[in-house]
Amino acid sequence: MYKTHGYAAKDANTPLAPFDIERRDVREHDVQIEVLFCGVCHSDLHQARNEWRNTIYPVVPGHEIVGRVTKVGAGVTRYKSGDLVGVGCLVDSCRTCASCAEGLEQYCENGFVGTYNGVDRVSGEVTYGGYSTSVVVDEAFVLNVPGNLDPAGAAPLLCAGITTYSPLRQWGAGPGKKVGIVGLGGLGHMGVKLARAMGAHVVLFTTSPSKVEDAKRLGAHEVVISKDPAQMQAHANSFDFILNTVAAQHDLNPFIELLKRDATMTLVGAPEHDHPSPQVFNLIFKRRRLAGSLIGGIAETQEMLDFCGQHGITSDIEIIPMQSINQAYDRMLKSDVKYRFVIDLNSLKQ
Ligand code: NAP
Ligand code: ZN
Ligand code: ZN
Repeated sequence: MYKTHGYAAKDANTPLAPFDIERRDVREHDVQIEVLFCGVCHSDLHQARNEWRNTIYPVVPGHEIVGRVTKVGAGVTRYKSGDLVGVGCLVDSCRTCASCAEGLEQYCENGFVGTYNGVDRVSGEVTYGGYSTSVVVDEAFVLNVPGNLDPAGAAPLLCAGITTYSPLRQWGAGPGKKVGIVGLGGLGHMGVKLARAMGAHVVLFTTSPSKVEDAKRLGAHEVVISKDPAQMQAHANSFDFILNTVAAQHDLNPFIELLKRDATMTLVGAPEHDHPSPQVFNLIFKRRRLAGSLIGGIAETQEMLDFCGQHGITSDIEIIPMQSINQAYDRMLKSDVKYRFVIDLNSLKQ
């Protein structure tokens, strides 16, 4: 075991505070990683505050990790010391069920192991995430970060990137398709960049008039203020796909009404309280679909990172020291993020 510094929430109502972690020594297939940068996902806030009612305390959040390999186990073949690598939301799964066999570890039928707030399949210990100076992860769940990408800007790809890339691919975003992205936060701004790079016609929906110019700069062809019924009505029955990233409970009907016949709105936002049920007739009369999607598997995450490498895509970030995490959470709740906070772990190493 070795000691690493981190930040943890010790219960749902207390700000995050310094917390020393004992990490395991590398097992045969493990990679030890010095964390350079870790993105701040809204899921970190949901879990630090037990909004999904399943948090094990103390919790060390962080699942958008970019770092350097510092040590590898005897059986590791894919990575060596010095490699620039990433770790996302998953650090293990059963590897034998039908979903795992298809490379869909996020839907593991025996339960995936989360990067934090999970339970290690070997030791039974609770996992601690990337708000820390070092992590140890099985090589099968470690990703290659393309060398041409800025490491800090690449960190959010490990969750915000893959969570938007996977449904955009699944529902066929590309040339000739009109794609809506709802919410311009961490996920939403990656959705805009990725859908644009895939060749779709991209429309961004926001509740924040101050974000209109940014949305266009990030790649949206059109921007709609979702609280303005006239702007919404202008897009009725016209979308092939809508990706909804909103982190709070809201009325889904105004967005469902914008879908064409047979089109889908997929929810990735995971709010504390469920959305009210949408009107059934809005679905029935145009055979519209409402769906969900969870992050992405390891193979698809690597595919997404390579796609971002080819297209030069990273997140628009604001770098913060670890000590500012509680202020960052407060700003995230006010939709005041441009467009992802990324922790520089050097702030914990000094
Ligand atoms: P974020 O950076 O806080 O962005 C959320 C955006 O939603 C805000 O910027 C805001 O955009 C919009 N919004 C917030 N409150 C709203 C409200 N009351 N009504 C309408 N719009 C509102 O959060 P994030 O990190 O992108 O995460 C978004 C959600 O996805 C979270 O719930 C997170 O837990 C979840 N998530 C899910 C997965 C998955 O696998 N399914 C993976 C990662 C994260 P505007 O200002 O543009 O309106
Ligand atoms: Zn996340
Ligand atoms: Zn499985």
